[in-house]
Amino acid sequence: MPDLHIDGRWVGSRDGARREVLCPADGSRVATVDEAAGHDAAEAALAARRAFDRGAWPGTPAKERGDLLLRVAALLERDKAAVARAESLDTGKRLVESEYDVDDVIGVFRYYGGIAGTGAGRVVDTGNPDVVSRVVHEPVGVCALITPWNYPLLQTSWKVAPALAAGNTFVLKPSELTPSTAILLIKLLEEAGLPAGVANLVLGAGPRAGAPLTEHPAVDLVSFTGGLATGRAIMASAAGTVKKVALELGGKNPNIVFADADVEAALDMALTAVFLHSGQVCSAGARLLVEEPLHEAFVAELAARADRIRLGGPFDERAETGPLISAEHLAKVEAYVQAGLDEGAELRCGGRRPDEPDLAKGHYYRPTILDRCHTGMRAVQDESFGPVLTVETFTGEDEAVRLANDTVYGLAGAVWTSDAGRAQRVAGRLRHGTIWINDFHPYVPQAEWGGYKQSGVGRELGLAGLAEYQETKHVWQNVRPAPQRWFGG
Ligand code: NDP
Repeated sequence: MPDLHIDGRWVGSRDGARREVLCPADGSRVATVDEAAGHDAAEAALAARRAFDRGAWPGTPAKERGDLLLRVAALLERDKAAVARAESLDTGKRLVESEYDVDDVIGVFRYYGGIAGTGAGRVVDTGNPDVVSRVVHEPVGVCALITPWNYPLLQTSWKVAPALAAGNTFVLKPSELTPSTAILLIKLLEEAGLPAGVANLVLGAGPRAGAPLTEHPAVDLVSFTGGLATGRAIMASAAGTVKKVALELGGKNPNIVFADADVEAALDMALTAVFLHSGQVCSAGARLLVEEPLHEAFVAELAARADRIRLGGPFDERAETGPLISAEHLAKVEAYVQAGLDEGAELRCGGRRPDEPDLAKGHYYRPTILDRCHTGMRAVQDESFGPVLTVETFTGEDEAVRLANDTVYGLAGAVWTSDAGRAQRVAGRLRHGTIWINDFHPYVPQAEWGGYKQSGVGRELGLAGLAEYQETKHVWQNVRPAPQRWFGG
């Protein structure tokens, strides 16, 4: 069966191109899928345009759109095992993590299914009894949804669920490295009863299959999650037709540990913050800022624990984290660590591939800690998107805040302290979109997610995540029309 989905039909790419999907854990072939190019992307955009302009979906009552999302959640529940397995094969991540991800995806569909019918707009008091004034929300139109490889289905759900709840049509372009769960999701949307043409899927490399969507005149909005450089390129490309743009671009997220913190909890979560999914997390706590008196003892224990982390493939039940996504990405992480060492960082652990022969075919890299870093280093400023922690020290609140904000990014950050007042003061001064106090990583679909500064534009999740996919219209009605005689006429 072909893998592109255009206008309600499964089709191959027009030029017949295909691509192998390989499991990062061992290089085995997971699938061979159709690979779209510009003409396929354009066809998909036009199909989505027709479905929006002439189809029933945008005018379907919002409550019914929500019910469809709830059916999708139920279908994902039914197929959870197969979906999680597909995600693990594409990404190399542990099966248990993929299962958590699918649970989160179900939660996102339930959330937007639940609120789809609740925001009909509002009546405005104009002060004029002869006027009825309403503000209503309408779908934006055709959305290009471009998603990355680290949380393929989860990042997709953050876009697809609100886009559909708001009544849009879309073209989804997942990462070329991880297309499998996008294919499964489109099948479930069909099974749930979504009309033909509303959900379109193109697979393929970003420049070939994604870029044409970002400049196509039929597309009204581009929502993208991925790297900063790609985000800049997409913003520039979308400017030609003044599309709405929503960007989620990752971060270099400070994890601030004061000397009065609960040290055991802070240690444990500092490991999770940066080494979860081998650091391939946009909100990874990849910058540890530790207060001076705690520094040596904290980092020594962290390095000892990091050295004990067990690496392995998706179905290895002893593994605690998995491989990097590709050989290219592994090479980038290695170069990043080398550059940090060249800049004067001190290697406290890792800094190499693992020794185990059974991991040799995968793209594995040992959890790595670079100590004695400072904000002048590229290693502190650049995102490695791998299992690499940089460590800086500070003294007092002001310095902690100054260092934590000394970055072009602003996605997330954490503060560890037992002083409740300090926790709130620091949280209030950090220029990042999510702040955790004495915790790291949790999120809920009800709460907005997104970046300050160059971590992005707009918000996903929560009510703002739905508003991204809505236009706002003011309807003014004069119920007692009469000449005003502004001009003499
Ligand atoms: P990219 O930003 O290159 O890719 C993300 C998505 O954009 C993929 O679907 C990709 O397609 C697509 N894409 C690439 N170029 C274009 C383009 N010109 N026009 C339209 N779409 C395009 O991320 P990478 O996968 O290469 O990762 C690079 C870096 O991005 C990472 O090292 C990390 O720093 C960051 N990143 C951040 C994520 C986050 O959650 N914020 C997630 C993933 C990465 P394809 O992959 O098929 O080429």
